[in-house]
Amino acid sequence: MTTTRTLPTTDDLRARARAALKRIGVSVPEGTDFAARTPITGDELFGLAAAGPADTEAAIAATREAFLTWRTTPAPRRGELVRRLGELLRDHKSDLADLITIEAGKIRSEALGEVQEMIDICDFAVGLSRQLYGRTIASERPGHRLAETWHPLGVVGVISAFNFPAAVWSWNTAVALACGDTVIWKPSELTPLISLACDRLLDQAAEDVGVPRDVHRLLLGDRAIGEQLVDDARIALVSATGSTRMGREVGPRVAARFGRSLLELGGNNAAVVAPSADLDLAVQGIVFAAAGTAGQRCTTLRRLIVHRDIADTLIARLTAAYAKLPIGDPFDESTLVGPLITTKALDGMQDALTRAQAQGGKILAGGGRRLADAAPRAAYVEPVIVRVDEQTEVVREETFAPVLYVLTYDSLAEAIALHNDVPQGLSSSIFTRDQQEAELFLSAEGSDCGIANVNIGTSGAEIGGAFGGEKETGGGRESGSDAWRAYMRPATNTINYSGRLALAQNVSFL
Ligand code: NAD
Repeated sequence: MTTTRTLPTTDDLRARARAALKRIGVSVPEGTDFAARTPITGDELFGLAAAGPADTEAAIAATREAFLTWRTTPAPRRGELVRRLGELLRDHKSDLADLITIEAGKIRSEALGEVQEMIDICDFAVGLSRQLYGRTIASERPGHRLAETWHPLGVVGVISAFNFPAAVWSWNTAVALACGDTVIWKPSELTPLISLACDRLLDQAAEDVGVPRDVHRLLLGDRAIGEQLVDDARIALVSATGSTRMGREVGPRVAARFGRSLLELGGNNAAVVAPSADLDLAVQGIVFAAAGTAGQRCTTLRRLIVHRDIADTLIARLTAAYAKLPIGDPFDESTLVGPLITTKALDGMQDALTRAQAQGGKILAGGGRRLADAAPRAAYVEPVIVRVDEQTEVVREETFAPVLYVLTYDSLAEAIALHNDVPQGLSSSIFTRDQQEAELFLSAEGSDCGIANVNIGTSGAEIGGAFGGEKETGGGRESGSDAWRAYMRPATNTINYSGRLALAQNVSFL
């Protein structure tokens, strides 16, 4: 594995962030409550002010008030706000990508991809604003019509994770606004600058199309803000993206007040590689899914389940590909693996590797730390491949770092059983040229995940399909397809135009 020789200085990164923010129209709110940092050097960029309980209360009251008007604004008119947001995202694509790279450490191409995803969901939501539809259902009574109508839900509280610091907000916000909801966003405390930029652009869009500012609010700070949103009955839907630990706390609390939640939590994604697989394609797909984003996607490939007959060949090709991975400065066009978000994440990775070895695992490639002298407070790591004989405790957990466990199988039934034998259920894939195998993997007795792919890795979903997972991944669906229904409330209507009262099930009364 190669390493970039130099890293930008923290002063360079601070100046670059300030310039991007300035072009977007954000003046950084200085404070001492917490810091915006960069994983590129591990250093602090700016001191920031956090929202307190009174700010959260004010944001809830304002967005609730704004909802009362927004819900009756015609949906295509609501779409105009989202269209304008999409235009502004296009105009500032490069600046937004800079902020994502500076705060989340994504390589340039992936940071630009994240902004493109935001633009795509805006396009989708603009179309949606003219297609919110319900069904008409056959009534059992003559002269009656049964219909289903969909209404705006209320204020949506969006709690988001560091690793998709902007796209997750846009998936929720573009769709929620088109659906007639207002939005409060509590981003990760690790990515405040990109949040300020997105918030500013939505403000600008609202001003440009003449929509009240209070259709959305941003609250910077720690989980206490999230907890306030979770417990407040005025927040109709809590859409929370993050670890399963967070979801375990948020889900029951929202349910206790009969609120709705949409939980997008951790994954432990696997790919099955069958003997008929095109290995060139498989190697490319596996390396991107396992080592891309430094293993910090919820859909990162964490387990490889390979047919015994091709295991040695595939492992040799993967270790060769891993040996060439350029690690280092995410702004350098040649880099493919940027930093982990914090040194705490590095500790988590090293702990997982120690446990994996104690549980019988053998490291086949990578696992070392890089650039520790140049940036001691940053966490650059070599993506690692670990051979395991069984799915031990550590293999069944999500370690948010580029650790790929390799297992072997003899029959497809065994591969599918191994695949499904983890608590999480987000993304999955099979590499095969055998159609029967592919169809079986996608069938009810195949993958138990919310996403199941063929001849492509586990990560990198398009916005057109609904995104989400099963089991401990939380069960939510966001983004495309009919995920919009989570942001609206249905009403069933019975309309009697017969001129006489007929009761259902032939009941007679009076
Ligand atoms: P995290 O759980 O530490 O934090 C996520 C967000 O939840 C933050 O904004 C945090 O402040 C907030 N939070 C934490 N505890 C809370 C509580 N008790 N009440 C209210 N809010 C609370 O996650 P992270 O480290 O930022 O992100 C990485 C995790 O997110 C990984 O597990 C990854 O798989 C997951 N993730 C899932 C998806 C998905 O769509 N399934 C997408 C991205 C990330």
